[in-house]
Amino acid sequence: MMAPAAPDRTDRDVLVAVRGLTKSYRRGPEEVHALRGASFVLRPGESVALMGPSGSGKTTVLNLLCGWEQPDGGEIQWSHDDAVPAGDRPWSDVAVVPQDLGLMEDLSVRENVELPLRLSGRPDQAGRVEALLTGLGLDGYQDRAPHELSLGEQQRAALARALILSPRLLLADEPTGHQDAGWGRAVFTAFRLAAREGTSSLMATHNPEALKFVDRALAMRDGLIHELERRPD
Ligand code: ADP
Ligand code: MG
Repeated sequence: MMAPAAPDRTDRDVLVAVRGLTKSYRRGPEEVHALRGASFVLRPGESVALMGPSGSGKTTVLNLLCGWEQPDGGEIQWSHDDAVPAGDRPWSDVAVVPQDLGLMEDLSVRENVELPLRLSGRPDQAGRVEALLTGLGLDGYQDRAPHELSLGEQQRAALARALILSPRLLLADEPTGHQDAGWGRAVFTAFRLAAREGTSSLMATHNPEALKFVDRALAMRDGLIHELERRPD
């Protein structure tokens, strides 16, 4: 029996609390209920997998958390600054690896990874850029255009870009979707290393191997979320 992942209103150690999110889409004459009251909390520094079959609502949860879409009902409460709406959060707060990656084709791989630094007026961090790219197997690819990389390599470049500002929260949609088993483990390891720097993460994934790397897993089914498994501390 799975316990409901209901958020606790008195829990102070919360990065973001999601309560009763609902979201429907129109598809011709039909209304699709993507989320039917999804609730969960993310705590600072934890790494969480959002697992569930295709169409269960995982991407919708990520899109609402990063502010790309608005919920029909329910609330998303950020602990650190509730005055800032999700869509206005800087990448130092919430960074995303979207399923379609969103790399800039006119920029090199290195320039893509540096872009969040530029956009947020941060100083160059050549050492950090190189360390992230090397750790994700992209050493020697820095000066290439994204289309000169395999999809798996592009996905790892998008992950390096998302990690460059050490965000409070990393949202990733099927981050191992284009990886083989070995690189999949390297991607999960990058999430763990980021957690040590204080980056919480929520990844939508089909990959059962994620369970070996995350602190918690949430199971999505039909627009609802349940706690799947909790590792002993
Ligand atoms: P998952 O990421 O778990 O595969 P999604 O969140 O993408 O699930 O989708 C949840 C449900 O909402 C699915 O039935 C999907 O077809 C539907 N859906 C998602 N986005 C849209 C949209 N823009 N228009 C219509 N239906 C959508
Ligand atoms: Mg999806």
